[in-house]
Amino acid sequence: MSTVLNTTGQTGPTPTIRPLPDSVVSSLKAVFNSRFTSNASVCLLHGTDESAYAPRPPQAVVFAESTDEVSFIVRSCAAHRIPVIPFGVGSSVEGHLLAIKGGICIDMSRMNAIVDIRPDDLTATVQAGVTREQLNEDLVHTGFFFSVDPGANASIGGMVATAASGTNTVRYGTMRDNVLSLTVVTADGEVIRTARRARKSSAGYCLTQLFIGSEGTLTAILPSNINRAHPLASKRSSCKPAVRPRSFKSWSAVISFPRMGWQVDCRVKHSANEDADMVVQRVGRLPVWTQHMTRWRGPRSGSGL
Ligand SMILES: Cc1cc2nc3c(=O)[nH]c(=O)nc-3n(C[C@H](O)[C@H](O)[C@H](O)COP(=O)(O)OP(=O)(O)OC[C@H]3O[C@@H](n4cnc5c(N)ncnc54)[C@H](O)[C@@H]3O)c2cc1C
Repeated sequence: MSTVLNTTGQTGPTPTIRPLPDSVVSSLKAVFNSRFTSNASVCLLHGTDESAYAPRPPQAVVFAESTDEVSFIVRSCAAHRIPVIPFGVGSSVEGHLLAIKGGICIDMSRMNAIVDIRPDDLTATVQAGVTREQLNEDLVHTGFFFSVDPGANASIGGMVATAASGTNTVRYGTMRDNVLSLTVVTADGEVIRTARRARKSSAGYCLTQLFIGSEGTLTAILPSNINRAHPLASKRSSCKPAVRPRSFKSWSAVISFPRMGWQVDCRVKHSANEDADMVVQRVGRLPVWTQHMTRWRGPRSGSGL
């Protein structure tokens, strides 16, 4: 049945919403106790987003706290063809969360642990309910930041599901460019990991990219989202430059950086009359974030290097 929504609610025929089977309700209640609720105001909150569409509450909300719990909910619902809607923080603007056919909402906000931060390989592993501000607060002391900023303090799971972009996207990319791998629960309740942390990640189907932007339809996104972190522009540090000959006619300036990845974003501009010595001395005095150099070739200096 097709349904057309406008800003005042639905205009097309109202889809039939089947009552939740007693067996499903009782088994979810038994497992989740007070974390399963059909309280009207809680349901309304979870059927409301930042779009102009009228709210459409789900029939129940479950507050999940682990991968196994999400898998259990999805399996229970799949067996009875009950719609499942994951919920991050409800900041989406396109009506994603509206339960037009009823169903059960899985609130992911309690899965909000930052599992691991690895500054040396520019990655972090987080649970789906972690918000981007929370991640950046934890990252700040490392000198890195998570770049995708859609304006709202959205959850990482929601940002993956909506392939979020934002003000930093021109320079750093969207969620598509910043997620290395995902752990997901598929529509039948199976838990899969789409890839490991290597940059070269898919020798077959690129499942990570399939799930990014799936808008909550294919999967529930779980712990182990692994995201790329970028050097924080305000973080300053010195580096240790050195110069060594590359060949008879050309020279390279080699600069070590305190942390892997900073050099990725670095490049040095040099004027035509600068030689290797001058470039290295100048670069050595600069804070790392202003350096833009991985390799320099130019005339041999007069210092005998
Ligand atoms: C002021 C404002 C400005 C914005 N600007 C931009 C912008 O410039 N660019 C841009 O791209 N977006 C923008 N957005 C939208 C933003 O990308 C989304 O609000 C955000 O990504 C959704 O995250 P959330 O945690 O609120 O997800 P929710 O709103 O809770 O959910 C959004 C969708 O993701 C699904 N979902 C949530 N969590 C999971 C999960 N763990 N697993 C599977 N599916 C899940 C939901 O089912 C739903 O379909 C803006 C939003 C606001 C309010």
